[in-house]
Amino acid sequence: MYLKKIEMHGFKSFADEVKLEFEPNITAIIGPNGSGKSNISDAIRWVLGEQSAKSLRGSKMEDVIFAGSDQRRPLGIAEVTLTLDNSDGSLPIDYNEVTIGRRVSRSGESDYLINNSVCRLKDVEELIMGTGMGKEAYSIIGQGKIDSILSNKSSDRRGIFEEAAGITKHKKRKDKASKKLEDTEHNLQRITDIIGELE
Ligand code: ATP
Repeated sequence: MYLKKIEMHGFKSFADEVKLEFEPNITAIIGPNGSGKSNISDAIRWVLGEQSAKSLRGSKMEDVIFAGSDQRRPLGIAEVTLTLDNSDGSLPIDYNEVTIGRRVSRSGESDYLINNSVCRLKDVEELIMGTGMGKEAYSIIGQGKIDSILSNKSSDRRGIFEEAAGITKHKKRKDKASKKLEDTEHNLQRITDIIGELE
């Protein structure tokens, strides 16, 4: 699996629609200070479910929408779509190409999309879990991330290896199943009590 294309419209400094196409090998993005290189990695993390405006270098989520410039009025909507090549079947979805999108408007409306169908954030998270692509995973190593990984608690560091090994999604499913089992045991106990009272 690899990132094939990013399409952005109204996201941060990208007022006009921008399409960036990538090849499977190494791509370097170069440009002067302030030209928008980090905004591209912010766009990727945003689509993948980043909820913290601060970690997107803003103070509120609306800050991802183009705020206007000397020549242009602000825009009302930001939209980003990633196209992933899934011909190796890394993503658990039966398509060779998968798009993941997110859009937000100044009025507060917000949508996630998988293959152009509106979905929940949870669906996006489940789709990419275990691929290393999640917003907390290791596919985006920002400035200072290496230092923070090295100084992390060992349990946090283990999380990075678990994601690389594809274990995270199984752990999440196990936690969910354990919680369900606990609730069911609780309900069963209540039913046993009620039956006891009726007898
Ligand atoms: P450096 O090399 O210094 O790290 P960079 O190429 O990574 O720079 P970015 O940090 O991606 O640059 O882009 C910063 C630019 O994006 C700033 O000029 C800032 O004004 C602009 N910008 C950020 N958010 C918005 C927004 N919502 N609307 C318009 N412009 C924005």
